[in-house]
Amino acid sequence: MTVRFGVIGTGAIGQEHIRRVEKRLSGGKVVAVTDISLDAARHCIEALELDAQLCDSEDEILQDSSVDAVIVTSWGPAHEGSVLKAIAAGKYVFVEKPLATTVDGCLRIVEAEARMGKRLVQVGFMRRYDASYVTLKREIESGRYGAPLMVRCVHRNACVDHRYTTDMAVLDTLIHELDVTRWLLGDDYTCVQVLYPKTTRHAPSGLQDPQIFNLVTQSGVVITAEVFVNCQYGYDIQCEVVCEDGVVSLASPQAVDIRHAGLHAQPVMQDWRFRFSDAYDAELQDFIDHVARGAEPSGPSSFDGYVATMVGQACVSAQGRDEWVTISVQKDLTIGFIRNNGNQRE
Ligand code: NAP
Repeated sequence: MTVRFGVIGTGAIGQEHIRRVEKRLSGGKVVAVTDISLDAARHCIEALELDAQLCDSEDEILQDSSVDAVIVTSWGPAHEGSVLKAIAAGKYVFVEKPLATTVDGCLRIVEAEARMGKRLVQVGFMRRYDASYVTLKREIESGRYGAPLMVRCVHRNACVDHRYTTDMAVLDTLIHELDVTRWLLGDDYTCVQVLYPKTTRHAPSGLQDPQIFNLVTQSGVVITAEVFVNCQYGYDIQCEVVCEDGVVSLASPQAVDIRHAGLHAQPVMQDWRFRFSDAYDAELQDFIDHVARGAEPSGPSSFDGYVATMVGQACVSAQGRDEWVTISVQKDLTIGFIRNNGNQRE
């Protein structure tokens, strides 16, 4: 079966996902498109030469029986409404992060899905599909290096514009580390503290940059995550897991290694689109493959989306306080089948 997609939100990543469904992946087709700006949606259909219907609203897409699944790529605050309507319409949903911008909004989605009795939602935490992270997880789980003790994460962007605020360092940037580290370790967070080093002169006025987030997990692993979004030199993602008997790190994603003019160097990627391009392909292909055979999506679940937003809110709260902030994941939800800490249905 070909999965017929409706797309809600035709901005940067919406267009990227449409392109990959249409040009690179198999088993999917975009049949309907909308955006808060109909002109933007129309332009998208024309620019990408889509054989897709321009819909006036998401409601039109969700009522369309020829749409099997939706891709939600509007801005974060609009996600909750779209996902809830999609669940009510019985459509499968691939939603970009964040699942919802509030903890209560995430819980409403988790509970709506639980009431349907099956998984319909996959959240776009694509790092779980990145080859380096997958290998890192496999190595940790092999047990060869003993138990993980410490994790050091780095998330650097060359620069951000003046609209980027201190809390966006959590909700737009760190949120990927929050999800992927929990997935790598199979462990939940218990508390977080934020440190502010001296701010770079390259930061727009009012932005604290860099920031360091210290997190502790239930088993006692300490994670130090640096977010530095005006590092100037490129897009740099690092993750090092220090275990009892060895250290395992993300491999460099670079294809070339240069020796020139007295230097031994590797180029640094400049953009997240390139760094995680294969992972975006893999997450959506996995979603398509499951939906096409009538199976529930097995990627990051609505519960994972809830945890990421909940931990993110704790990090934001810690940004404003000179103390550790406690994190408590709500585990008494009657949603066992949605919990998905490790891409495994429990
Ligand atoms: P963007 O370029 O601003 O695109 C968002 C689009 O959605 C815009 O066209 C916006 O229109 C439209 N929109 C806003 N509200 C809407 C609504 N209620 N209904 C339909 N369309 C609506 O942003 P983006 O970079 O594509 O990001 C979109 C989402 O993807 C965000 O949640 C972001 O966090 C996420 N994202 C994830 C990754 C990742 O690595 N997984 C990477 C990038 C982005 P206007 O411009 O008129 O507001």
